[in-house]
Order: sequence, then structure tokens, then C-alpha cells
Amino acid sequence: GLEDAELQRLVALLLAAREVDVHGAVQEAVVERNALVRNAPHFVKPLPTTIPIHKTFSGILTAPFRLLFTHGRGKPRERGALLIKVGLTMYDTFSRDGGSVPRHTFHGRKASRERFPDLDDRFAYTATYYDASMHDPERLALDVLRDGQQEGAARSANYVSAVGANGKAVTLRDEVSGEEFDFTAKVIVNTSGPWTDLTNIALGAPTRFMGGTKGSHIVLENDELLAATRGNEIFFEASDGRIVLIYPLKGRVMVGTTDIDADPSKPVVCTDDEISYFFDLIAQVFPRIAVTREQIVYTFSGIRPLPRHDDVAPGFVSRDYRVEKGDLAGTPVLSLVGGKWTTFRALSEHVANDALALLGRRRTQSTANLAIGGGAGYPKDAATRARWIDAHRGAHEAAFADRMLERYGTYAAELLAALPVAQHPLEHAPAYSSEEIAFLAEREEVVTLMDLLLRRTSVAFVGGMTPETLVEIADAAAPALGWDAERTRAEVEAATANLRDAHRVDLGHAGVAALAH
Ligand SMILES: Cc1cc2nc3c(=O)[nH]c(=O)nc-3n(C[C@H](O)[C@H](O)[C@H](O)COP(=O)(O)OP(=O)(O)OC[C@H]3O[C@@H](n4cnc5c(N)ncnc54)[C@H](O)[C@@H]3O)c2cc1C
Repeated sequence: GLEDAELQRLVALLLAAREVDVHGAVQEAVVERNALVRNAPHFVKPLPTTIPIHKTFSGILTAPFRLLFTHGRGKPRERGALLIKVGLTMYDTFSRDGGSVPRHTFHGRKASRERFPDLDDRFAYTATYYDASMHDPERLALDVLRDGQQEGAARSANYVSAVGANGKAVTLRDEVSGEEFDFTAKVIVNTSGPWTDLTNIALGAPTRFMGGTKGSHIVLENDELLAATRGNEIFFEASDGRIVLIYPLKGRVMVGTTDIDADPSKPVVCTDDEISYFFDLIAQVFPRIAVTREQIVYTFSGIRPLPRHDDVAPGFVSRDYRVEKGDLAGTPVLSLVGGKWTTFRALSEHVANDALALLGRRRTQSTANLAIGGGAGYPKDAATRARWIDAHRGAHEAAFADRMLERYGTYAAELLAALPVAQHPLEHAPAYSSEEIAFLAEREEVVTLMDLLLRRTSVAFVGGMTPETLVEIADAAAPALGWDAERTRAEVEAATANLRDAHRVDLGHAGVAALAH
């Protein structure tokens, strides 16, 4: 193999020859990812990511490096172990955050076999580098929102849509009551993701900024597959350019994703074809592990808020972002185009700076090094963790306090103070108590049962729900939300239908529900 010094020289040569192109957006993403590991350590953790590779010289060009090095330049090109090694050496130089993220490691056939005994024997190499996992993005969003509200000046309203314009006012609709009302502002910011154009159309100022692509995931309960990943995200690109990500998460294996042009005016769902695609690729990576449709406990599908991309293939569309300026009867309208979770802080800073400039005001606080929500004061090692637990557990068992700290970060202090010591674990979702559900319902702007199942807890993600799970959680939340028996029943019915139609969950049965037509 090449020595590191030789590799550095090769990298310099390739850079000079513009054979590789480190895209600015990639550098920003790496900086932001490392900042998230520091600022939100409760929800963003370093994640070893392993690429299995077939060949030395041609072979596989994996997705992360496709984004790094061939950004937007036509169809997938195959590259082998040597170039991946070069790529990882470069990646190390700008991604390691002063050494806090480990260097990549590269292994030949024998060592790869030892590290990942279930991998297909055809793989000649494995390369492992560090990315980061964001295991609870919905809860991270809640943390950001809560931080903003605690600043005093910020307000938010859930389930309210911009549906039209009345002069310079935006017409808003309360999606629960159906009530509509006008709202004026000095600056309007449209951050409705893949729906940004549809929102601008509703405001009477049509735009054609967006070209979102659909991506689906399945969640499998398969302990053998889970063990086979050895805690790594496995990132594999087949020689025909198809990609699969096999990802251990919450005791399950998440498998994704696809990249298909999508119409944001229509709902998206994980299709049978997508499931076959995932199964085919899992079999190429771990051929000796049996994976069946009965093991699918949850599926989800979303639309990436990508910019319009006309002739560029979906997988090559930039994950970068920009802010477009429009106008509603004299009021500036800023539309966010693009972006991704990793860079959300940087793009929010960008949008906020643009809005501040329009308001003639100045930023008073940088968010670059600001801890997020339950990441503030999050203990970094075992001794500090034990001290935090001792200081905040009150009369609760240390093990319970530890679980809450893991689940919520230091925001757990509020739960530990509010929850009684004697709680009632849910019979049909034993990871939660009815008191914890009531706490979330009361404090976290919950409007529907689906909010609790998908966006406040991991109950839907880990699967195994029955009709009784829904009834039990709805009953636990009802007093805090003022739901009477009829509303509670309606919530259970709506959630049952939504889980079936959008997530293919057949409550109480193994495997996926048939697609609605
Ligand atoms: C399959 C898939 C995989 C992804 N993988 C990654 C990844 O690995 N890393 C990464 O960083 N990012 C990833 N992303 C991208 C990331 O999820 C998105 O960039 C991010 O969620 C966008 O956030 P947003 O707030 O801009 O938009 P969204 O989260 O889409 O939110 C837009 C909101 O606007 C609301 N809305 C729509 N219309 C209106 C209206 N008229 N009035 C009011 N509200 C409205 C919607 O209800 C929605 O809540 C992935 C996305 C998908 C789909």
C-alpha cells in the first residue's frame, strides 16, 4: 500500500490536475457537522461509517465521495480502493476537527473478514471513516424551537399554513379549526422545504425554484443484520450506481434510501419496488443473512428540498442552499431553496442575516458555538455523567435518570423534576410511562396523536405497535390536551389510517400494509 506521505503527494497532484474537486458546500457541511457534535452532543454523535469495496482500481465509487469529487458532473463513475483511499486521506485533512474525529482506517480482505464476518466474500477491502448520526432530528428541531422561545421574542404556531395573500398580508389557516386570518409582517420568510414553490403560488407570486426528490427508508427488526453492522453505518454502492445505506439505530436497522423525482403536491410513500431495491442491495452486502418483509416494522418517505435540476440526475443535484428574494405588495419575501439537516445552523444564520439586513437590525448573538437545547451542559464523560445524574435525579432511580438524559439531553432535568417517582409504564409501549407522555403532550406543542408517535417519541420508529398502543398513548395525552372521548377516538382513527397509508404500518401485524390506491 501507499504510505501516507506518498498519498499526500498524490492528493496534491490530483488537486492540481483538478481531478478531484472539493466542493465548498462539502467543506461547510463538514464544519457544521463537527459543530453539531459539539453543540448538540445529546442528539448528534460520531458514527463509524464503513464502505465495503470490491476492486482495487475500478470497482466502487461510493456515494459520499461522489458528492465530494464528481459533484454534478454527469453519470456515476466507478473508482476502486486506491481512489477511495486517496479520497479518505483528503477527507481526513479537512474533516477531523483538530483531531477530535478519528482518522479513517483501511483494511484488506483478511482484516475486513475479521471485522465484518457477515460481509460478502467478494469484498476485497473495507474503509471506515467517521461521519455523524442525528438519531432524533425531530427532537433536535424542538430543542431549537424551545431555545428560540426562551429568548422571549420568538413565537411559534403549529399546524398553521400560509394559504393566500390579501394585499400585503399573508392569509393563514389554522389547520385544526379551519379558521383563516390575515397576518402582516415587515419581512416574510418562506421556509416550506420542498413545498416552497407551492407556498409562493398560494401567495400569488409563483416561483420555480424547487425540484425535490423522493427518498424512502425501511426499518427492520432483524438482530442478525443489526449485529452484522458492528455498530457501523454501512455505505455501499453497487457497480450499477445503486446505493444503499444500512444503519443501526435504536436497536433496529434502518435501510435507505432512494432518490426519485417527485411532485410535492402529492403524498409520498415507500413503494414495493423500493423495498425490493433495498432487499436486493442488502443481499449484495450481507448475502448470508435472511431478511424478510415480515421484519419491516416501519417505513417512511420524504421529499428533499432540492433546487430545480432539469437535466442533472437526482443523485447529483447539489445539497447546497441559497436564499431568493421576492416581494408581496412591497413586503420582501425570502425563500429558502435547498439545504439539509447537517447545515441547518449555517443556512438559518444566512437567512436570519438577510432578514436582519432588511429590518435594518444587527445580529447580537452568533450561533456558531451555541449549545442547542439539551446539549447545554451535556456531560462528556462517565464521571461527569454520574455527577449530573446525582445532582438531578431527585428521588428517581439513577438508571431512570440516565435513560432520560440519554433520551432528552440535559432537558431531562425538567422531566425529572416534573415526573412522579411512581409512574405507570405503558403496557403496550413499555419504554414510556403515561406520565412522560402527559408531560410531552402538555409542554411540546402537541396537536395530534401522530405528533406523539412520530415526532416526540420513537414509538412508531421502533415498531411493534398494536391498536392498543394508540389507545393507551391517546388516553395518556388526552387530559393535557383537553381531548374528550370522541376526540380521543378520532385521533386514534386518524393515526391508524395515517400509519397505514403513509408508513405502511399494519397495526398488530408483522410486515407492511398493502398500498392504498
Ligand atoms: C430521504 C431523505 C434523506 C435525507 N437525508 C439527509 C441526510 O442524510 N443529511 C441531511 O443533512 N439531510 C438529509 N435530508 C434533508 C433534510 O431532511 C431536509 O433538508 C430538511 O428536513 C429540510 O428542512 P426544512 O425545514 O427546510 O423543510 P421541511 O422539513 O420539509 O419543513 C417544511 C415545513 O413547511 C411546512 N409547510 C409546507 N407548506 C406550508 C405552508 N403553505 N404554510 C406553512 N407551512 C408549510 C411543511 O408542513 C413542513 O413542516 C434528507 C431528506 C430526505 C427526504
